[in-house]
Amino acid sequence: MVSEIKKIGVFTSGGDSPGMNAAIRSVVRTCAFLKVDCVGIYRGYEGMIEGDFKPMDARSVNNIINKGGTILKSARCEPFRTEEGRKKAYEQLRAEGIDAFVVIGGDGSFTGAMIFNQEFDFPVIGIPGTIDNDIFGTTFTLGFDTALNTVVEAIDKIRDTASSHNRLFFVEVMGRDVGHIALNAGVGAGAEEILIPEENLGLDRLLESLKRSKESGKSSSIVIVAEGDKTGKNVFELKEYVEEHLPIYDVRVSVLGHMQRGGPPSCYDRVLASRMGVKAVESLLEGKTSLMVGVQDNRLILTPINKAIKGHTKIDKELIRVSEIMTT
Ligand code: ADP
Repeated sequence: MVSEIKKIGVFTSGGDSPGMNAAIRSVVRTCAFLKVDCVGIYRGYEGMIEGDFKPMDARSVNNIINKGGTILKSARCEPFRTEEGRKKAYEQLRAEGIDAFVVIGGDGSFTGAMIFNQEFDFPVIGIPGTIDNDIFGTTFTLGFDTALNTVVEAIDKIRDTASSHNRLFFVEVMGRDVGHIALNAGVGAGAEEILIPEENLGLDRLLESLKRSKESGKSSSIVIVAEGDKTGKNVFELKEYVEEHLPIYDVRVSVLGHMQRGGPPSCYDRVLASRMGVKAVESLLEGKTSLMVGVQDNRLILTPINKAIKGHTKIDKELIRVSEIMTT
C-alpha cells in the first residue's frame, strides 16, 4: 500500500520530560529512513497556530539522544482549546503540506490531538512523554525511569546528611494525582514511609511507624511525600505535626521540585523513545490514527487516545506490600 502521507510534523507539548529529544530523533530518523518528509513544530500547539515550522532531516537531530528537555521547546497554549485556534493550526499545517503529526506529551496534549483529529480528520499518533507515569495504555511513559533515578540519587544524598545528624527528612516528590514516583523511588531509596495519593495511610500510622523506627535504633528516617498525598497536610505541615507529637525527632523538609524533570535520559528512556518513535511513524504510514504508542510486557502496543486520556495506570499493590515489609 502506498501511503498518502508524504510529510509528518512532530512536536512536544505540555510538561517536558527526559526522553522527549530521543523521541524527536527517532521520529525524524524513521521519516528519513522511510523517505517521508519531516517537519519540526516549535512550542507545541502555540507554534502550530503561528506556523513556527522547520524541516528536519536525519542530521538535524545529531547529538540530542543524551539531552534532557526538548529541542523543539514545549508550551501550553490556551487558543488551541478554541475552535478558532484549532482552525488556524489546521490552515498552517495544510499550508506547509503536513499530512499527519506525532505529538509527544501528556494527557492534555493528547486531548487536544484527539479533538483536532475529530474536527479535521487529520491523522495523529501520540507518544507518552511525562515523568508522572499517569497515562493508561503504557506501563512506562518517557521520562519516568529517568525521574526515578534522579529522585533516588537525591534521596541517597539527603540520607547521608540525615544519618549524620539523626534527623527525620520529609522529601516531597512530584505526583499530584498519582504516586508512582513516590512509591518506586521510595522503595529504591529505602524510605521509612511513603505517602501517596492512592492510599490514605493516616497520620496516626505515620506517628506509630516513626516511633517504632526510632525505638528500633534507626539513625535516620526518610519519608517520601507525593505532592497530592492524602493526609491533607503538605510537607511543611507534616514537619510541624511530627515535631509537635514526636519531639524526639529533629525534622527537616526537602522539596525536590523541577530538578525531577531535567537531566540526561536514562538508557531505558532512550531505548523506549527510539522504539516508540519508529512505531509512531510506521503506524501513521499504515493509515492508523488517534492512537497512542505504549509499552506493556516490553512489547509496543497501540491504545485509542480516548482511552489513554481517561484512565491512569493503577498503583502497584504488590510494590506497596514490598514497601511495607521493607520498613520493618
Ligand atoms: P500535558 O500534555 O503535559 O498534560 P497540558 O494539560 O498543559 O499538558 O496540555 C498541553 C496543551 O494541550 C494545552 O496547553 C492545550 O494547548 C492542549 N489541550 C489540553 N487540553 C485540551 C482540550 N480539552 N482541548 C484542546 N486542547 C487541549
